[in-house]
Amino acid sequence: MARLFLISNRVAVPGAGGHPGGLEVALKATLRKHSCVWLGWSGEVHEKPRTRTITRGDNSYVIVDLTSEDFDEYYNGFANRVLWPIFHYRLDLAEFSRRDLSGYLRVNEHFADELAGMLEPDDIVWVHDYHLIPLAKALRARGLTNRIGFFLHIPLPPPEILTAMPNHERLIPSLCDYDLVGFQTHGDAANFARYLAKELGTPSHIPLRLGSGERAMRIGTFPVGIETREFTRLARRASKTSFARRVMASVPGTLMIGVDRLDYSKGITLRLEAYERFLAANPQWRGKITYLQITPKSRSTIKEYSEMEAAVNSAAGRINGAYSEANWAPVRYVNRPYSRAALSGLYAAARVGLVTPMRDGMNLVAKEYVAAQDPDDPGVLILSRFAGAADECREALLVNPYDPDAVAAAIARAMAMSWSERKARHSELYAALLRNDISKWGDKFLKALSPQDKKGPTALRDLLAPATGSAATGPTRPPATRQ
Ligand code: ADP
Repeated sequence: MARLFLISNRVAVPGAGGHPGGLEVALKATLRKHSCVWLGWSGEVHEKPRTRTITRGDNSYVIVDLTSEDFDEYYNGFANRVLWPIFHYRLDLAEFSRRDLSGYLRVNEHFADELAGMLEPDDIVWVHDYHLIPLAKALRARGLTNRIGFFLHIPLPPPEILTAMPNHERLIPSLCDYDLVGFQTHGDAANFARYLAKELGTPSHIPLRLGSGERAMRIGTFPVGIETREFTRLARRASKTSFARRVMASVPGTLMIGVDRLDYSKGITLRLEAYERFLAANPQWRGKITYLQITPKSRSTIKEYSEMEAAVNSAAGRINGAYSEANWAPVRYVNRPYSRAALSGLYAAARVGLVTPMRDGMNLVAKEYVAAQDPDDPGVLILSRFAGAADECREALLVNPYDPDAVAAAIARAMAMSWSERKARHSELYAALLRNDISKWGDKFLKALSPQDKKGPTALRDLLAPATGSAATGPTRPPATRQ
């Protein structure tokens, strides 16, 4: 029987500890339904790298060590310092080095060698995220003709930005070696189609047929969801725990929550600035609102991240210095991770969820916040229009995160929103989350990738046209702006 190979930068071996990352949660249903082999980096750096296989039930986990050179060039270098900023529209933060690109390609070749030794002709391969863009090309070069799909979890910028990346022509066209390339939003898919039309001269009026031989690449939109009902149940239980009760008892008045990794794409300093403006413009709310920002540190070895840590600390300190009273501080800034259960209880307790990334592939926090609300007395989601989640969460208060006055006005609006409007918005948002529950995400992608799927190749023309239709089979509509 055909096996399913999942390939990603990191592998989450069950029972190995740590908090489940977004990728693990997204793949959970797929790992349950299929017999999978999941291959990726072990997280360890050794001068003599090893490859180990761990078996858990029907699934195997193949974990590969990196050398310190691989780690510097592939992970810290090209993935984190070139692809991550550029794909998040931050050309100003990209630091390109040829050495890092060759390290990135080398690790992809190494993963391809490991895989080539394991694959049978009818096995299906599903590659995840920006660390592994050229993997299909490396596999095709080894003569493999398996069905290979790719899903990009982060945004894909328009060609005007992508083409500013040195050597983009060595990397982006290699996506054509996949049978299926999936994106979070129609906008990302359309950006890819525009890149192909512009850079490869692919005529936009004919079906796309690229790559080696007769293989035809297809492009799809598969927005990642959450386990909606499960998260709602978790939040209901968690809000009755002593942890949630103690937190609420310690908060004077209303709670507003932000939960993000410390990353420049999340817009945390701009968000604090917006809150500061809200406090300045709305003295009646001083002493009655507490903004809890939960931000575990990430990638602190990179300079921009440690600078950002200092900037967020200083903005939170400035606001508390300006507005605190003996019995109230406007900002609580917490630097540690919480369990999913504890987090769900905090979301449930918060009247406002403030999710304002400057650019985000999807943003699961926005969806988790909605799922955690009590439908009879729900809170209000304020969401950046530049998060992929904005395509589905059209009943959130959609804001431009670059405009702190507009975000401040949205906070004021959320705080004063009537019960009936909160309820009506929440019910629409919740229905959207149910429609696109994560349990179906893997099925939709794998169905589109399977050899039995008889749909023809994607017509670029369809992607370049204004979007209509539903998520996985067709494009989603761009969000409407409310304010
Ligand atoms: P990204 O993948 O860019 O970090 P997402 O919002 O899509 O952003 O996903 C973040 C995931 O990490 C969510 O599932 C969220 O619950 C989880 N998470 C974020 N902050 C914390 C935290 N402090 N403790 C535990 N989990 C967290």
